[in-house]
Amino acid sequence: MTDAWDFGLELRSDPATTAARTAVLDKPGFGQAFTDHMVVATWSADRGWYDQKVTAYAPLKVSPAAAVLHYAQEIFEGLKAYRHEDGSVWAFRPDRNAARFSSSATRLALPQVPEQDFIAALRALVTVDEAWVPPAGSGETSLYLRPYMIATEAALSVRPAREVLFGVIASPAGAYFDTGPKPISIWLTTSTIRATPGGTGAAKCGSNYAASLAGLAEAVANGCDQVAFVDAVERRWLEEIGSTNLFFVYADGRIVTPELSGSILEGVTRASVLDLAVDLGHTVEERKVSADEWRDGVRSGEISEVFASGTAAVIAPIGRLAWPDGDLTIGDHSINHGVGPVTATLRQSLLDLQYGRVPDTRGWLTRLA
Ligand SMILES: *Cc1c(COP(=O)(O)O)cnc(C)c1O
Repeated sequence: MTDAWDFGLELRSDPATTAARTAVLDKPGFGQAFTDHMVVATWSADRGWYDQKVTAYAPLKVSPAAAVLHYAQEIFEGLKAYRHEDGSVWAFRPDRNAARFSSSATRLALPQVPEQDFIAALRALVTVDEAWVPPAGSGETSLYLRPYMIATEAALSVRPAREVLFGVIASPAGAYFDTGPKPISIWLTTSTIRATPGGTGAAKCGSNYAASLAGLAEAVANGCDQVAFVDAVERRWLEEIGSTNLFFVYADGRIVTPELSGSILEGVTRASVLDLAVDLGHTVEERKVSADEWRDGVRSGEISEVFASGTAAVIAPIGRLAWPDGDLTIGDHSINHGVGPVTATLRQSLLDLQYGRVPDTRGWLTRLA
């Protein structure tokens, strides 16, 4: 066991002015503006991790021969820091992100970041840039945290890199839905596949995202917001919606989500929804769900609500499914803007926990500042 990471502090002399920061926090958007600082740590096969620090947010200097640029040896995470009413700042289940980062690292042949150091890195950055965490009571706002790891070794030979960089950047995030949740539309693609058995679908790596973009472009070209992917082998079992997990609410109260097949990313939100749904009296099922079950269930009324889950959107109601020769409306769009009651309740339950408005009975929150 090596010593816990100790972060050097290189505070910048030219942080954003209060006026500039306030302007960002008034209208944060998503992933556009970044805080004054970032975390970086360096790894080499010979030395292990060293030079962990909080330093000025700035472009990285990497060789054009860096392995990440050619062979996509990269992983990342995404989680949020929430300001509570008393001013404190909390992360939601960051141990889960740390564990997933660790298994993603194994899959991409990258080194491990110990869980306590991963969380220490988040805390180090949020402590320095705390003023960038949007104030309590400003709606569903947060500071989005993006840990990542890239292979920086300048070597074109194909093998696990011997030099690596770990970093964390932070970006104030506004509400995913400006004016309350609105149902999104989904394009069911059968022409592209996101992940394959034995591949990297269960790891959070940039190359999965690259593989999903043509499907997303196809969805947008067909007038939809997001894309649904099916499995690679039989091309009928639903896996994910873009970069979110998928849930079905049955009229009899069951809540069903595709089982973790090895090519599905296990969302922290997904796991939390499954637990909260049981608290709320639902029966939950993790099993295979086909595209036909979705279509038939909506047509017959057996499926009453469909939603997607992920850190950015929390829970996004799905109001329409389209595919090359069909189109289906889900739910009653004349009631509550088409957001079903189970979807709305689960969403509110998660938000109440994250923003500290209800007791954290499971110990899901970790204080960052
Ligand atoms: C990150 C991610 C999710 C959602 O995970 P959360 O931990 O809930 O944010 C779902 N699918 C994919 C492909 C992802 O990368």
